[in-house]
Amino acid sequence: MNIVEGFTGAIGNTPLIKLETLSEITGCNILAKAEFMNPGGSVKDRAALSLIQQAENSGQLKSGGTVVEGTAGNTGIGLAHICNARGYKCVIVIPETQSQEKMDNLRLLGAEVRPIPAVPFKNPENYVHVAKRIADETENSVWANQFDNTANRDAHFDTTGPEIWQQTDATVDGFICATGTGGTLAGIGRYLKQQRPDVCIALADPSGSVLAQWVLNGELKLTGDGSITEGIGNGRVTANLQGTEIDTAVTIGDQITVDMVYHLLYHEGLLVGASSGLNVAAAVWLAGQLGPGKTIVTLLTDHGSRYQSRLFNQQWLESKNLVIPARARRFELENI
Ligand code: PMP
Repeated sequence: MNIVEGFTGAIGNTPLIKLETLSEITGCNILAKAEFMNPGGSVKDRAALSLIQQAENSGQLKSGGTVVEGTAGNTGIGLAHICNARGYKCVIVIPETQSQEKMDNLRLLGAEVRPIPAVPFKNPENYVHVAKRIADETENSVWANQFDNTANRDAHFDTTGPEIWQQTDATVDGFICATGTGGTLAGIGRYLKQQRPDVCIALADPSGSVLAQWVLNGELKLTGDGSITEGIGNGRVTANLQGTEIDTAVTIGDQITVDMVYHLLYHEGLLVGASSGLNVAAAVWLAGQLGPGKTIVTLLTDHGSRYQSRLFNQQWLESKNLVIPARARRFELENI
């Protein structure tokens, strides 16, 4: 028998997919971990489980309690699934700029969804601070605090990192992904560096984030002025990211991200969201940095259906001055 225990037992152990067309053009093994195959549909199921387990183990979260979180959506979806499976209530504070599909998904799951205007972190009305206040005011509740609670990073140190190490038979040369909370990159990066100190750990950033410059020069300086990607990029260094060894970084513009999303769809058969497109474009960039013959791993963080009305809507893309590449056109190395 090969049976997992409940919803949470189905989290993790995702396939590592060799991207054939991109491996061919780079001369490297470009491998992408299919995190959209987690039962809640994204990489954030792993963090959600770890945050809830920590709250339970510390005694903060008790039977019938409420989990409150500020999230761009995917962590909220993971939390809402687990809350249903374990009998907790779930309150999600989400910037109203996030996709309608993610909000609908959260409501479908029975979470209480509170969309609020998107304002910078320094503003007390930012979704992260609002979530904390709601938890403070709600009896028998916890604030999951995914940005600064390192139980998030631990999920990836304990599961995603070891899975990548085993699935590549200890041959991984480089790992790259974008960060929102930083939990994924920090947890995987720390684990892989522990196994092999010369593995290259790299951060991929969208336009409108300070993290690429922070990695490259130690400065909290913005690159570019914004992005259509959701859940990635940041204006500050979170506790999850702090103290993590990161070797290099790259900023990927939105048109390259869109080109890669459509390349993955038409030439690899994968329907994924924008942060996945950005991650894979960044993996192709890292292949150029490390040279042929290397094994480079990244993540496919969530499914494209979560962005049908945006990333897969020509009118919406045009309103952002982005174009859908012709179906026959393949991603070219010169793009990057
Ligand atoms: N991609 C997507 C689609 C996400 O929702 C998130 C989480 N906000 C990330 C990437 C980044 O993951 P992390 O928070 O672990 O940095």
